[in-house]
Amino acid sequence: MKLPIYMDNHATTPLDPRVLDAMMPFLTNKFGNAASRNHAFGWEAEEAVENARKQIAGIIGANSKEIVITSGATESNNLALKGVAEMYGERGNHIITAATEHKCVLDTAKKLEKRGFRISFLPVMADGRIDMDMLRESITDKTILVSIMYANNEIGVIQPVQEIGKLCHEKGVLFHTDATQAVGKIPVNVLADNIDLLSLSGHKMYGPKGVGALYVRRKNPRVQLTAQMDGGGHERGMRSGTLNVPGIVGLGSACAIAQKEMAEEAKRSAFLRDKLKSKLMDALDETFVNGSLEHRLPNNLNISFAYVEGESLLMGINDVAVSSGSACTSATLEPSYVLKALGAGDDLAHSSIRFGIGRFNTEEEVDYVAEKVISVVRKLRELSPLYEMFKEGIDLSKVEWTAH
Ligand SMILES: *Cc1c(COP(=O)(O)O)cnc(C)c1O
Repeated sequence: MKLPIYMDNHATTPLDPRVLDAMMPFLTNKFGNAASRNHAFGWEAEEAVENARKQIAGIIGANSKEIVITSGATESNNLALKGVAEMYGERGNHIITAATEHKCVLDTAKKLEKRGFRISFLPVMADGRIDMDMLRESITDKTILVSIMYANNEIGVIQPVQEIGKLCHEKGVLFHTDATQAVGKIPVNVLADNIDLLSLSGHKMYGPKGVGALYVRRKNPRVQLTAQMDGGGHERGMRSGTLNVPGIVGLGSACAIAQKEMAEEAKRSAFLRDKLKSKLMDALDETFVNGSLEHRLPNNLNISFAYVEGESLLMGINDVAVSSGSACTSATLEPSYVLKALGAGDDLAHSSIRFGIGRFNTEEEVDYVAEKVISVVRKLRELSPLYEMFKEGIDLSKVEWTAH
């Protein structure tokens, strides 16, 4: 077993060596521009791109003509929200999203708010899922778009996407989903799920960084977007710029591998995740899983270890790469807005750790991580006066603190 151990696969995933093999010719002698229509170098590149486009479409049940290549999910989300807002702004000015979305959706929505759109940021229930009744009541005749993520990047909670899509189609509202964490991990089908726009990213599914895609539905309904990048009219006018051929080939290969191996891989990572969870929770009291366990990605575990600072825990387990529920923003440590949206207090949000099991993690690594976390949590709790008081049976919520 090699240290350090990487168990932060929601942040990014390593490149699958098979993906690199597929990319290599396009990083070397097959260097043509896919837009060069008049020679063999261009044709070779274009053919590779079209093959990759089929592989990308394949994993979400789409047609390859519905795939717009982008630089990643951040760009896809920007293009979906801003592209729809600008194209359909005459019809209505209302967009619905959720409080637990990725920053790139929330910040895009806030930018549109400044431009005069009305945005509803739906709260979520304690398990991290949106309330369908609340969504139904939020839709008005001014609503043009609902953007709700498929699966959350911090807590792995899967939204009722199929129901959301059905509701949106009944109401004549477009439905976008950020499926960056879902594609390749669980089955996603744009037709069965009534999805009109879907974002995905290469580096979250063992492909390269800096490449992603936006699915744009072509019929029932045909979705139109205002381009956010002007230029040579690539990607059917929706996203200009010379195509990143090696990246696209890599994304296609990553999709093909994931589609073929998804069922097996999901079983394997759920087994490892569940083993990690039982080891931690059997050994440690006052530990809580954040978000629904039932509606959850097979590779995600997010646990709060009460009376322990996530950042201190991270430092204690410095040969294991995971993330904490505190985000470093400028000078302060902010507790995760996702965990806060579930109703977790600042303390529990600060004491949370996200484990992201990946394709290349082994059972031996899971055992090592569990032992390490258990011993560091125990050590930190030994130093915690609050934990001591809790063990003595003092009700901390009734203690009156004085500040000096
Ligand atoms: C990583 C991630 C993004 C951003 O993707 P990039 O390709 O890195 O821009 C967006 N949404 C979710 C849910 C993510 O996990």
